[in-house]
Amino acid sequence: MANNTDFLLALEGVTVSFDGFKAVNDLNLYIDKGELRVIIGPNGAGKTTVLDLICGRTRLSSGSIKFKDEEISNLKEQQIVRRGIGRKFQTPSIYDDLTVFENLELSFPRGREVFGALFWNRTTEIIERVREIAEMIYLSDQLDRSAETLSHGQKQWLEIGMLLIQDPELLMLDEPVAGMSVSERTKTAALLNTIIKNRSVVVIEHDMKFVESIAHRVTVLHQGKVLCEGDMEKIHADPRVKEVYLGH
Ligand code: ADP
Ligand code: MG
Repeated sequence: MANNTDFLLALEGVTVSFDGFKAVNDLNLYIDKGELRVIIGPNGAGKTTVLDLICGRTRLSSGSIKFKDEEISNLKEQQIVRRGIGRKFQTPSIYDDLTVFENLELSFPRGREVFGALFWNRTTEIIERVREIAEMIYLSDQLDRSAETLSHGQKQWLEIGMLLIQDPELLMLDEPVAGMSVSERTKTAALLNTIIKNRSVVVIEHDMKFVESIAHRVTVLHQGKVLCEGDMEKIHADPRVKEVYLGH
């Protein structure tokens, strides 16, 4: 058991049972600051449930989840967001009838007016931030476009942008490149490598090519437990991984 404070996120002994079935079973998982971690594993391994537990959507049955050395497993979803954890679901949840700009603007964290900034000043700050994020997510020239007319990949980027504008310290993405074209995948890999500079990112992914293009460290989940963890070389060399996942 680790008890030092260098981890941004630490899951220890985390178990969740659904009607007696342990979807996550005594799981230990540690994410460093500035790390890009990929979680892989066969369908039903518990990957999405792990993200649900971290973001407070599902309650653990036992164990501990610490973010910056503070227990968060007892907090509500919104409180966890405010602590600095952003999570993207498998299907994008953007506002179809709003423009790209409006979607990003809406996601800008509120409450800054408390500090007495002038209105025009606040607006300028928001506009600048929206432009900065739009540039990162390859949508600079799409700001006035209605979100529903974006390609599937662009919608995924927009949702990532809506999380980035909140400047989370930990960003979790569930299968972000599913349904993307090859060139969109390449750009998404570049995007993830850019945003990692100020935060940690946890990505669940199936596409092994994509995993190889982004992964620092990979965790293979199987039956709610860590089967293997390490760099791609180690993952590839592990016969158990081939058995449960790569061999499929
Ligand atoms: P993965 O994302 O790795 O494919 P999941 O985390 O979605 O796997 O699911 C892990 C297991 O837990 C699956 O067997 C799934 O059916 C089950 N499960 C997930 N969420 C629930 C729930 N809310 N109620 C009951 N069973 C669930
Ligand atoms: Mg899943």
